[in-house]
Amino acid sequence: MAKVHNWHLGREMQYRFDEAHPQRQFVAVFNTNRCIACQTCTLACKSTWTFSRGQEYMWWNNVETKPYGGYPHHWDVKLLHLLDQVNHGGQYWDVSQQTDEQPYGVFKGMTIFEAAARDGKENAIGYLPTEEEWNSPNLYEDTPRGPAGKPNEYHPGGAELPVHKTWFFYLQRICNHCTYPGCLAACPRNAIYKRPEDGIVLIDQERCRGYRKCVEQCPYKKSMYRPTTQVSEKCVGCYPRVEGTDPLTEGLPMETRCVATCVGKIRMQGLVEIENGAWAEDRQNPLYYLVRVEKVALPLYPQFGTEPNIYYIPPRWAPRQYLQQMFGPGVEHAIERYTNPSRELLAVLQLFRATQQIIFRYEIEEGEKILETEVNGRPFEMYNDTVIGFNSQGDEIVRLSVAEPFHVRPDQYQNSI
Ligand code: SF4
Ligand code: SF4
Repeated sequence: MAKVHNWHLGREMQYRFDEAHPQRQFVAVFNTNRCIACQTCTLACKSTWTFSRGQEYMWWNNVETKPYGGYPHHWDVKLLHLLDQVNHGGQYWDVSQQTDEQPYGVFKGMTIFEAAARDGKENAIGYLPTEEEWNSPNLYEDTPRGPAGKPNEYHPGGAELPVHKTWFFYLQRICNHCTYPGCLAACPRNAIYKRPEDGIVLIDQERCRGYRKCVEQCPYKKSMYRPTTQVSEKCVGCYPRVEGTDPLTEGLPMETRCVATCVGKIRMQGLVEIENGAWAEDRQNPLYYLVRVEKVALPLYPQFGTEPNIYYIPPRWAPRQYLQQMFGPGVEHAIERYTNPSRELLAVLQLFRATQQIIFRYEIEEGEKILETEVNGRPFEMYNDTVIGFNSQGDEIVRLSVAEPFHVRPDQYQNSI
């Protein structure tokens, strides 16, 4: 196995292939705090990509209710168990070594690749879900965990912050278009590749022979086998939209379907520049700002080692230990930034789902102070700043104020506008 650098882990790790990077990387941020589990994203994806025979069970985008839900069932608990079996008690982070380059410190445990290398058999550890585990994609929807740790238990006064005693949250999931994909490392036919122009991970349908190694070794279970064609398929990152070939934007890069349709405005997707194998400093790119400057959005199970490229603003009410296992050691910091946002963060959060075009750069024009209050016992000031988003050509495509306009519908238009 080769040695590659994984910035999520803050160290080098073993991987099947030598380090290679695209010029730009497909990245998204999902704000779990705002999701209402309406599944509009799920259906937008389904009606675009997986509406045909043999794809009935495929949900390239799904929204599951944590802690019990998962598609396929218990995918993450199973992976965590597999890793714990190989490296019992050794899956921990050294947070004393946090720097800007390794913001989560150093992961001291084993990734899915390292755990497999120890046995010398596979490229990554994993498992093939059973047919049954792929059914009921939204099992345990809205099922909370109560004080004694059982489903559907309620605790009196269980919804007090900072951590609810009775809790659940929604986790939105698509393929992470990983920097070091488990699916790609697993494929004996070398049918999976990462596009140099945007880092989107695709399966070559001509080369694939349906061995299902990618289904087994994607830790997020986002590669799926299609029995009618006998090859595997996965989320394609809506690449025609990202390329700008959708007629709607006349050649300009556009957000994916799941992002563009999000009712809760929880999603933002774009491209970050890669330089010498790392994210190039790009302070005014909203994704760079959220992930690398504010560090308010975190990778999903970074310890798996694939360097996933979908980042999450963690739910502020859920137990921290649970969240730290899921999003790594950056959780306390991210929740602190989100609950006590800077002026700039408050403005950038307005850009979520503000336009279908990809925002490459933002600027902020300062406005007047509109509120002085207390949040969590601390003084908080709010300013009506204006945030402006620019597309790949540098043209302004969106302009929004922090204070949203308030409309009162006149009596004669109670049911229409
Ligand atoms: S469309 Fe947005 S709000 Fe609705 S389930 Fe999907 S991510 Fe959540
Ligand atoms: S999430 Fe899974 S399918 Fe997607 S790139 Fe990563 S390993 Fe491959």
